[in-house]
Amino acid sequence: MWQAQYYNGLTAARLDVMVKLRPDSLQIIKKDQGVVNWPLGEITAHAAHHAGEAMRLERGREKLNVPSPDFPAAFKAASPAHASKFGTPKTRKKNLIYAGAITALAGLLVSLYLWIIPFAADYAAAIVPPAWEARLGSSIADDFSERFQVCENPLAVDRVNAIVSSLDAAAQPHPYKFKVSIIKFPMVNALAAPGGYIIVFSGLLEKTERPEELAGVLAHEMQHVLKRHATRSIFHNISTYMLVTLLTGGSSSAGGIVNTFTSMRYSQANETEADDAGLGLLQKAAIDPSGMVDFFKTMEKEEKHKNISGILSYVSTHPETAERIQRLNAAIAAHPSATATKFLLPDMKWKDVATACSEVKGDKPVDNEMPNAPVEPEKTPEHE
Ligand SMILES: [Zn+2]
Repeated sequence: MWQAQYYNGLTAARLDVMVKLRPDSLQIIKKDQGVVNWPLGEITAHAAHHAGEAMRLERGREKLNVPSPDFPAAFKAASPAHASKFGTPKTRKKNLIYAGAITALAGLLVSLYLWIIPFAADYAAAIVPPAWEARLGSSIADDFSERFQVCENPLAVDRVNAIVSSLDAAAQPHPYKFKVSIIKFPMVNALAAPGGYIIVFSGLLEKTERPEELAGVLAHEMQHVLKRHATRSIFHNISTYMLVTLLTGGSSSAGGIVNTFTSMRYSQANETEADDAGLGLLQKAAIDPSGMVDFFKTMEKEEKHKNISGILSYVSTHPETAERIQRLNAAIAAHPSATATKFLLPDMKWKDVATACSEVKGDKPVDNEMPNAPVEPEKTPEHE
């Protein structure tokens, strides 16, 4: 007599039973529920593959597990006529191959979603030619300029470009051509599209109190381009179909990309990298990095007043501002010799530059010949 577990094949319930080998049958004795006889000729046996594994017997949908290590030999001895019913090494191997193939297929599908697609996206983002990134970035920038009003006031545009040029020179060599657009919109926001297209919202420009603060924002955004964060993020976020379409030269999904771009978030790791590398870029360009920190302090106040909202907000997508300030201050303290002493654009009254793209009454540009002319309040009832 051996102890065994019996499954009737109709429910998952397990029944502890005793089994007994008889000349032509296996007797299953259920506690208080009678006796079942399995004719040996109707039993399919699966021998244990390793020590400690129960021998499994089947008859139709009924199953029996017999854990006792001496049962297989006894069973084999009792049913030599039905030895062919045993899982022979050959069929067992075949079953193993099937099981292996199914497991491999499932594994392939899971890893395709979890690993291969992100890996392919990373790989594609790393090898895609800069010219291609520029095409993608340009279509994103075009989309922004269609949706928003682009500020063309040279008072701001020229100064912003001058800061970008200083940073660009320090960042060389790299394959990108930076192009900054200022769009008239009161949101405190800046973003970097692939290939060097940077978009600064007038709301952010207005919040800067000196050029070094804007330089800090620009250095951060430029690093998102140089480190291909935007490209990688887009590749991660768009569907595989879109990725394939894009990589094979299709352009019909540009609209989808723009939508993806405006809803995506950078990882905290990307943001920290852009901060650190951005700070390094400021120092290399001999621009006072305390501007970057000061701007984050302004942002911290803004956050408290809940003035930050919307897609890709420069702050809400970024790591905790207090944490960033702490990190940046530590980095500046670690390399004090790299800290610049020269001032950016010393001849300018920065407030005029910062407000040059803010909306004025009648939406007229600020008179460039009179940079000190008072600027109308940015919002008037007729604009609301
Ligand atoms: Zn960022």
